[in-house]
Amino acid sequence: MKVITLVWLNEIRLRVVVCMLCAIAVGAVYFLAYNYKVTNSEMSQRQQLIDMTNAFTSAFAVHRGEENLVPATFRRIGIQEFTDNVISNADVRATASTMRMPGTPGLELTTVEQDPRILSIIANMAQTRSSASHNEHLWIDGQFIGRTIVPSIASSESCVACHNEALGGNVYEVGDVMGAFVVETDLTSAVTQSAAYAIGTAPIVGILVFGLITLQARRSARTVTALQRQVSAEQKQRRAEERAKFLASHDSLTGSANRSMFYDHLDRNISQMETGEVADVIIALIDLDDFKLINDSMGHDAGDAVLVTIATRLRKVADPLGGLVARFGGDEFAVVVAPKQTDFDVEKLGQQLVDSIHQEFQFGTSVLRPGCSVGIASLSQVDGSDIPALMKSADTALYAAKNAGKSRYQTFDETLRTKMGRKLELLTALPVALGESGIRPVLQPKVDLKSGEIVGFEALARWNHLGKEIPRTEFIPLAEECHMIEQLDFQIMRQSAAAIAEASRSGQKSVMLSANVSALDVHTSDFVEQVQDVLLVTGLSPSQLTLEITENVFMQNWKKARKSLTALRAAGVSVALDDFGTGYSSLSYVLEFPFDEIKIDRSLAKDVTRIEQNKDMLLHLTRMFHDLDKTVTIEGVETEEQMLLLMEIGVQVAQGYFFSKPLELEEARELLRSTDTGAALKSRVG
Ligand code: C2E
Ligand code: MG
Ligand code: MG
Repeated sequence: MKVITLVWLNEIRLRVVVCMLCAIAVGAVYFLAYNYKVTNSEMSQRQQLIDMTNAFTSAFAVHRGEENLVPATFRRIGIQEFTDNVISNADVRATASTMRMPGTPGLELTTVEQDPRILSIIANMAQTRSSASHNEHLWIDGQFIGRTIVPSIASSESCVACHNEALGGNVYEVGDVMGAFVVETDLTSAVTQSAAYAIGTAPIVGILVFGLITLQARRSARTVTALQRQVSAEQKQRRAEERAKFLASHDSLTGSANRSMFYDHLDRNISQMETGEVADVIIALIDLDDFKLINDSMGHDAGDAVLVTIATRLRKVADPLGGLVARFGGDEFAVVVAPKQTDFDVEKLGQQLVDSIHQEFQFGTSVLRPGCSVGIASLSQVDGSDIPALMKSADTALYAAKNAGKSRYQTFDETLRTKMGRKLELLTALPVALGESGIRPVLQPKVDLKSGEIVGFEALARWNHLGKEIPRTEFIPLAEECHMIEQLDFQIMRQSAAAIAEASRSGQKSVMLSANVSALDVHTSDFVEQVQDVLLVTGLSPSQLTLEITENVFMQNWKKARKSLTALRAAGVSVALDDFGTGYSSLSYVLEFPFDEIKIDRSLAKDVTRIEQNKDMLLHLTRMFHDLDKTVTIEGVETEEQMLLLMEIGVQVAQGYFFSKPLELEEARELLRSTDTGAALKSRVG
């Protein structure tokens, strides 16, 4: 309302109209008030006369003992020259023959009873003789006339005598009302004057009012501006609050729900399932494959664009099912669906999610096909009906999907629960085993095929958990996954290095120790220091240590790995490329780094006696590595036949069950000590 008024005041045309109306109103009021004052003062004089006359009339009536207060002769009307001007009423003058009455001021009319106006005045006076209603104003011939009735009283004996004589009888006594005068006053000039004043006053009033309104308008304009500012600030504040509210529940990059909103939604869905509103609650956890690669190779803009596109694609799948898409951060997304029907096809949902993401995506000139792993869990399948149980199950399924390969989904079921239960058990037991030395090294001898001498041992990890040996294929990947491999590797390296160094110190043959190091170890910032620390602590000579790495090391930050390995080589440590022949481009890696030793995988040794092709390949590889000045070691020699063939090919070092299975530390030391077992090994080579 206030704003409307202010806007109204700011409209200049409206202001002018208002000023004009005010001026007219003030003029009119002034005019009316002035005239009222003029006429009123005139009237009051006449009223005095009338009142006085009435008093006389009453006295006269009492005196005469008559009921009728108005004498019968009260018919004569005269027009008094109240002022110097004679009233110029044409009608009256035309009909009246005037006669100046002695002793009375003014003129007396003799034939006025014929004048209807005067008759009506007399009648009016007769009815209301004591009131002032016989006063009136009227326009006659363009003149504003104030009219009143004044009685004519027989004031003296001579006056009475004169009138009685004229009437031919003894009609009047002194004090009688003999008639009345109609007294008319020309008020035209007074009216004109007040009108002129009113007209003169109006513009001044108008200007004053305009000034006042303008002043007020200015003030109101300032108020309007202040109000507008306030409104705009409030709008900004509201927008900021709305944005903050949105951000509190949404991911700012993709506009998807955030983790907190996801949990709220999930909680609601679980309650709905309890009340039977929905049949099931299904969550899908989605993790993009190789997202880090996209970010690192194409930049963060590309990474962001991929995430936005993924969110849109997921919404296309979830929206028709009434589901919600959330981003947990990084490349992790989640979808929650609460179907009303019991036969909801979870497998179909998984496939839809995988397929929707595995579509082409163009960024600049590059075209990508993002992949993802999806883990799905349904509340109906989960042991427990709470969010943590559901999330844990979906997480387990996601983990299984990732392990199974790229662009896959996995639903959570009983089999998975058993499988994952075992994994969880090992995950919990692994740190304990490492701390209590439940994980120990075994040493497998490496034999020189020319001399039959033991040239070294390879340290291999073993884990005895609750009386059972856990397969290496199970716990090494687990240790890598939970980032405990570094601790495991250096523990194995330290224990076996201590044993070999001790053997050397006690005068036994100085042999080499080959320690397996994971790619993850090589990329840690203090890898070189840790290796040097092992040498320092155990007293093993750097020249006795060989680090076995696989080609995985090249996949990651190769430059950094090369720097560390070069530094260790410079310190006298040897580096071997393990499992050669199992990868795809091992040969190119051999040229990338000056390895001291190449260990050919046992898969190549296995069929070397049966398959001619393998023999030829081994022959050529061995020659090539010899030419490159590298020691060639072959793994997995199980038979004499294999050994003989490898000797023929020219392989220098062999390792395998044919010579010895991996030995406990004490057994290995015993082997080095005992000439019998050493000789037995030697005899195998012949
Ligand atoms: P690897 O380094 O190539 O080790 C040789 C593997 O071949 C060992 O298996 C050994 O027991 C097995 N082996 C040796 N001779 C024969 C044979 O004549 N026949 C057969 N069938 N197998 C033979 P293991 O101990 O199960 O280790 C497997 C792999 O696990 C190793 O391959 C190595 O890559 C990894 N590994 C073992 N211990 C460690 C460790 O302490 N740290 C790391 N990072 N990896 C380890
Ligand atoms: Mg090895
Ligand atoms: Mg190997």
